[in-house]
Amino acid sequence: MSILIKNAKILTQNLKREFLNGNILIEDDEIVEISKKSINTETDYKIDCKNKLILPGLINTHTHIPMTLLRGYSDDMILDKWLNDSIWPIESKLDKNSIEIGSKLGVLEMIASGTTTFLDMYFFEDTIGKVSKKIGIRAFLGFALIDNGTPEYSSNELIIKCENFVRRWKNNDLIKPAIAPHAVYTCGPELLKKTYDISNKYNTIIHTHCSETRNEVYEVKKKYGLRPIKQLEKYGLINDKMILAHCGWITKNEIQDITKHGAKISHCPISNMKIGSGGYAPIPEMIDSNIVVSLGTDGAASNNTLDMFETMKFCALIHKQHRWDPEILPSQSVLDFATIQGAKALKIDQYVGSIEVGKKADIIIIDLNKPHLTPKHDYVSHIVYAVKGSDVDTTIVNGKPIMLENKFLRLDEQKILDDAELCAKNLTSKL
Ligand SMILES: [Zn+2]
Repeated sequence: MSILIKNAKILTQNLKREFLNGNILIEDDEIVEISKKSINTETDYKIDCKNKLILPGLINTHTHIPMTLLRGYSDDMILDKWLNDSIWPIESKLDKNSIEIGSKLGVLEMIASGTTTFLDMYFFEDTIGKVSKKIGIRAFLGFALIDNGTPEYSSNELIIKCENFVRRWKNNDLIKPAIAPHAVYTCGPELLKKTYDISNKYNTIIHTHCSETRNEVYEVKKKYGLRPIKQLEKYGLINDKMILAHCGWITKNEIQDITKHGAKISHCPISNMKIGSGGYAPIPEMIDSNIVVSLGTDGAASNNTLDMFETMKFCALIHKQHRWDPEILPSQSVLDFATIQGAKALKIDQYVGSIEVGKKADIIIIDLNKPHLTPKHDYVSHIVYAVKGSDVDTTIVNGKPIMLENKFLRLDEQKILDDAELCAKNLTSKL
């Protein structure tokens, strides 16, 4: 397949963060030419981008895709009560069918709002993988580990199932397996040791919730004598394969530990604010320490969307407000978190995260011909502060258009919405 993108305004996100006016030629999965001069060649698709902005596909490094089914189901609760009284009882009723429906809804939403890669953590990841593969989105699937077992597997079979899962997906092109111990308050030392062993054996990404609330830090310290970062470090899990979600309650010493071992961060400002976790991930200090910071929406139950443009805006705003300093986090840094830094966190920056010749064609196109995007003084400012996910009109992953000028080519949008509505009603009415 080949695609010619013409007359494009391109935020490349390359090393020099160049902005270009020009044309992009995609052949198969790769960007083969970027030129200021017109490219005259026959292609399967030609997209005229007059009044449109091109940027790399966005990368969401923390979510739980099937939780789209619980969007808006129970809001305005503290985390412990929310999990114990509301979320976990419903999750215990999930099966492959509901996971498939919720995953289709989640992937549809991501494609519609410009996300081309996501890192998930959930149960039934094989089902999420099949949905993602069929639609053609790039996915890292975190097989969830919890001491008490999951709705899919008992605690006795979790480890062997996890290893089998990693083996099944490790050679796939777009879909990669990851290991996701839920958190140190739900995963004891034995499980953490096993996590290390499997990730080491198969060289997979590791993903966990860490220091999300003050109560979590307090309880972990009381139980193990160590704060969550030190507890993870004790089992070798603060390393360059680890992506830590949240980190709202961490210290300067913990920033040093993260830096020393090269672990990465998935910052989830909207989820933290919605849960009212009170902690502010020390993102400016992390940047000063050269820690790779990326962005996550978290699940749709605690956000309530998977719109990475919203997450970028909240990220920029929360730190300015917290530090009384509008200069603390410029919009270019925030755009980096959602693109090239996300790719670095997942160790795929040699393939994606920027628009450059030789990279995979993960590209999104934004329609700028809108009242809220006029006038156009600064495109990076627009991306972070003004663009909405619904302004994305084309999403290309690995050289294949999945949404082209607001039409889904590989998805039956209405059926996905109808199925999800029905499935969500059935799930919640079972309680
Ligand atoms: Zn989460």
